[in-house]
Amino acid sequence: MTKILLIVAFTIGIVVWFKYLAGKREVLPRKEKMPEDMVRCQVCQVNLPRSEALLSQGRFYCCDEHLRRRD
Ligand SMILES: [Zn+2]
Repeated sequence: MTKILLIVAFTIGIVVWFKYLAGKREVLPRKEKMPEDMVRCQVCQVNLPRSEALLSQGRFYCCDEHLRRRD
């Protein structure tokens, strides 16, 4: 009987420990993804991170081609 209780307690301990580790892993990637602002290309309306967008006269573009095609 004592053996069964030990096995049950051990199993619950492992499950709780794995859930704790899984919870920790979920928090980290979210933090990395958070800070980037999204902007929209004026030509094709695609959303992209501000750091990857091209800025010209206060407007954002996704690539060189669309920046030149703005008129
Ligand atoms: Zn575009």
